[in-house]
Amino acid sequence: MAFEGLSEKLQNVFKGLKGKGSLTEADINAAMREVKLALLEADVNFKVVKEFVDSVKQKSLGEEVMASLTPGQQVIKIVNDELTELMGGTGSKLTYSPKGFTVYMMVGLQGTGKTTTCGKLANYLKKNGKKPMLCACDIYRPAAIDQLEVVGKAVDTPVFTMRESREPEKIALAAIKEAERKGCNVLIVDTAGRLQIDEELMEELVRLKGAIKPHEILLVVDALTGQDAVNAAEGFNDRLGIDGIIMTKMDGDSRGGAALSAKKVTGRPVKFVGTGEKFDALEPFHPERMASRILGMGDMLTLIEKAQEDYDEQKAQELEKRLRKNQFTLEDFLEQMGQIRKMGGIGKLLGMMPGMNSRAMQNVNVEQSERDFVQMEAIIQSMTREERENPSILNASRRKRIAAGSGQPVSKINQLVKRYDETRKMMKSFTGKGGAGRMNRMFR
Ligand code: GDP
Repeated sequence: MAFEGLSEKLQNVFKGLKGKGSLTEADINAAMREVKLALLEADVNFKVVKEFVDSVKQKSLGEEVMASLTPGQQVIKIVNDELTELMGGTGSKLTYSPKGFTVYMMVGLQGTGKTTTCGKLANYLKKNGKKPMLCACDIYRPAAIDQLEVVGKAVDTPVFTMRESREPEKIALAAIKEAERKGCNVLIVDTAGRLQIDEELMEELVRLKGAIKPHEILLVVDALTGQDAVNAAEGFNDRLGIDGIIMTKMDGDSRGGAALSAKKVTGRPVKFVGTGEKFDALEPFHPERMASRILGMGDMLTLIEKAQEDYDEQKAQELEKRLRKNQFTLEDFLEQMGQIRKMGGIGKLLGMMPGMNSRAMQNVNVEQSERDFVQMEAIIQSMTREERENPSILNASRRKRIAAGSGQPVSKINQLVKRYDETRKMMKSFTGKGGAGRMNRMFR
């Protein structure tokens, strides 16, 4: 997968920052030097790298440190936000014509995967409830028409051809009519490719654009060609104007630089990435998710944000006071569980932890953990106020009564009291450290 090298390097840089209680300007400068190198090695456009690093540096130094994040985490968050923005922010969605019939014009150099991508896009659209039709407008290579027909069969989509015609505009206009007649609502126009951008091709594409007025022009580029892909995008955009980029072969050993530079250089977002030769190997591009993936954080940032949103500072301080006085009650224990549930439950929390990939998740029985929570809640709710405040009075007969009340065996009550004791000890050790003792320390 692209970005692997970059991802590893960036994670190494941030490992050093994460644990630090405070960051000096020199720390940030040193980290940014490494980020810069990592991006350059990933083949990100030089100018883009410079702007990116400058912007992160400025924001890192300027920002107030949020109470619930360590300075290191804050820098990572800034990098994450900037990476997201760099890759196009939220404006990367494919759009449909409001008129109900959408024409996409597919352009790109030969060999980038344009024809395959036409098939992938048809497949994607079908899955999203559309009725696409493909149209072959390469008037130079009969083999390209044959190929589109094969692709069309593979994804069970009609293909419009006019083998004898030498006029792409005529072909495409006839295709629109035919598509409407057949009840299709999307036409994907495959155009001719060349080995490199030349004036003749551009003129032809400009004429075609003028005739069919496509809703979007999608440029297909090959991620493996790195900055050449970005240059091609710039060339096509300057001459023809494009609406989005489809970056193919992201499954290969591309370093990812093209996907990171394309938006900034051309002003046009990457809308899809191709991740294989099969027709289902096309993924909508989500800059936000990609950024988190590059930084190896699962959804750690979402988790941090949630912790920030949901954690009540005042309550935390009260809790801390009680802990100091050794007054952490079962009521508090319940409250803690409530917090975890509010953040989406134990399963969600685990899934958002970095390093908790799908393999690691298989070893955690999420459903069981959730069930345990519900049971614990039921048990505590079956206790009297006095018992919750002072669990040490829970003798055998009280435990039996609670068991009956909550519908759980006595062993579960014993287990809960044990967990409460362990939690109390653990929380005490949190408050011990440095005195601040805020619960959100757990996320540092
Ligand atoms: P065109 O000349 O631009 O129409 O390119 P083709 O559609 O013929 O594709 C060229 C080659 O790239 C074919 O062998 C495709 O299977 C392959 N290809 C296209 N997209 C991808 C992709 O996302 N990943 C991989 N690994 N191969 C791809």
